Amino acid sequence: MLHCIVKIALDTPLDICFDYLWCGDDKLSALPACGQLVLVPFGRREVVGLIVEVKHSSEVADHKLKQVLALRAQLPPLSDRWLALCGFAADYYQRPLGEVAIPGLPKNLRAEKTVALDRAVKKLAKQAEQGAPHDATPHQMPALNPAQQQAADAIAGARGFAPHLLYGVTGSGKTEVYLQAAAQILAQQDAAQILILVPEINLTPQLEGNIRARFPGVMLATLHSSLAEGERMTHWLAAHLGQARIILGTRLAILASLPQLKLIVIDEEHDPSYKQQEGLRYSARDLAVWRAHQLAIPIVLGSATPSLESWQHAQSGRYRKLELRERAVKDALLPTVRLINMETDKPTEGLTSTLIAALRLRLERGEQSLLFLNRRGYAPVINCDACGWVSDCPRCTAFMVLHKPEHRLRCHHCSLELRIPRACPTCGNVDLQPLGRGTQRVEEGLQRLFPQARILRIDADSTRLKGSAQAAFDSVHRGEVDILIGTQMVAKGHDFKNLTLVGVLNPDTALFSQDYRASERLFAQLMQVAGRAGRAAQKEGGSASEVLIQSRYPQHPLYSAVVNHDYDHFAGALLEERQQAHLPPYIYQALLRAEARELQIALDFLQQAANCLEHPGITINDPIPMTMTRVANVERAQLLVECASRPALQAFLKRWMAELRAMKSRVKWSLEVDPVDI
Ligand code: ADP
Ligand code: ZN
Ligand code: ZN
Repeated sequence: MLHCIVKIALDTPLDICFDYLWCGDDKLSALPACGQLVLVPFGRREVVGLIVEVKHSSEVADHKLKQVLALRAQLPPLSDRWLALCGFAADYYQRPLGEVAIPGLPKNLRAEKTVALDRAVKKLAKQAEQGAPHDATPHQMPALNPAQQQAADAIAGARGFAPHLLYGVTGSGKTEVYLQAAAQILAQQDAAQILILVPEINLTPQLEGNIRARFPGVMLATLHSSLAEGERMTHWLAAHLGQARIILGTRLAILASLPQLKLIVIDEEHDPSYKQQEGLRYSARDLAVWRAHQLAIPIVLGSATPSLESWQHAQSGRYRKLELRERAVKDALLPTVRLINMETDKPTEGLTSTLIAALRLRLERGEQSLLFLNRRGYAPVINCDACGWVSDCPRCTAFMVLHKPEHRLRCHHCSLELRIPRACPTCGNVDLQPLGRGTQRVEEGLQRLFPQARILRIDADSTRLKGSAQAAFDSVHRGEVDILIGTQMVAKGHDFKNLTLVGVLNPDTALFSQDYRASERLFAQLMQVAGRAGRAAQKEGGSASEVLIQSRYPQHPLYSAVVNHDYDHFAGALLEERQQAHLPPYIYQALLRAEARELQIALDFLQQAANCLEHPGITINDPIPMTMTRVANVERAQLLVECASRPALQAFLKRWMAELRAMKSRVKWSLEVDPVDI
């Protein structure tokens, strides 16, 4: 009888793996192997775990060990390389292995019953039998221009680990480069898999359509958070079994099992959405680079406004820089960017007369316009002129936002909803005023200014229902919308063909933010949204493409860089500033956060953490309250740790985490490595 010990990773916050007994019987008739999923008892539950080691003895006495209940035998084991990827992520981000490896698996794999798994495997097996067409010949590929061709050839021809930064202006045809590099690799290498990551779910349908049209004979799997469980299972399995050759997904797809991975593409690599902001706070871009290194394969990071980290690597030669300087479509020119001074051109309904005139012209010519305002709701706050009352959230250091169509005040941080008060809660004044302007209010203003126009708002509120975002974008593509108003959801990636005007409302606040990354982000955002204009050639009698930015600081150097489409210069200046100020990417950071009912308790915990370990070479800053100190009645504080060497910081964090875990404090704390919002 087979009898051994298996070490198993479970999805628990405890940073250990657990030993179980493997007793061979009819159900467990084979030897266990690393990477297999098993069902085990844990506390009072039965949970799915991952075998990470098979061994002959345990430090725990045999009679105390519990037994493995069942094996997910239908599933080929996860590979050593995949385990190593999870192991690296766990190590680097200082989280338990099980918390990295298990939650990314489809729920149905983790469920006790395996009916769904059986069904999915049979499905897929049938497809394989019927010989799903294995024709990797691409269709309808446009002829690349020389710069695109050079880039695609460089990527597909690379050997070993080869990171590329594809630096191409908006509309330069980066997507074509990815697809043709993919086509070459699929044609050269039998069974190769290609992983393409995009920052937003909303960008998957357009790209998915493109890929299906190009590669009708290749199985495509999508992986993102809005798939139904059944779909998720099938797609994940298709990737794991090596049947899906192109895998298109959002950040979570970076942890998918891809046994034949030969190329990774990270589109819009600068996008903050690649950073997971809760739980395992990983950067999908950074993990992707690690994964490409592990597998010795090429990776492409594409952007018109690369992150400073990637730009620095390209400048230093660590990444190979590939440039696309012009728009791909003949005669589609980059838009002219102009600043509109709001001090001299006073806005009505939030719009200056210049912008209103530009919108009117587009309406007359049957062209589309896009207004970008990164603030949803009707107004960020309401107030009482008589006594000075403002709509503070009772639970957060934040205002309750007025949502007029929904007749509610909403806190965007704790999700509290209140009815809009009829009168001021302090003085009874019935004339409460909305202050400032969100997308709903701009939409209302537009309807008054342009009653004939077809106006569509796209933001998180208008697209709450599943499928509604897609429907909204489709209607823009079909030309059923004259003026589109939206948040950053509309700024990224979309290829709107008939759009010739972009108006930017209210970007100034980010100019004076405390966050040192704010200007990098604002610049990228403005360049991205500007890039939605003029993506097709100018029509006869049509408008030249134009971007109008309304500002009170039109002379600001950041805006001049946008006007000149001058990323190089701007990035160079920012990097110099960062170097002088000892900020990333010149140093490495980690952020310890603590939450408690009282602020002092959180601060005390952090102070204790700061003192608990010798730390030569590591800078430990003072604990401070977070900018938004209170969220949902919880007080929050943070402690920033910095070091000039990544390995030294990593070594310190490992020891530090062990100390902190041993402290058994009741304060809730978490660590973020390479934090982005500090
Ligand atoms: P980016 O991702 O760089 O912003 P896209 O890949 O969306 O740009 O391409 C912009 C437009 O240019 C798309 O409509 C695309 O079909 C078109 N395009 C790309 N490459 C070519 C080419 N070689 N010839 C003609 N059109 C092209
Ligand atoms: Zn009042
Ligand atoms: Zn709140």
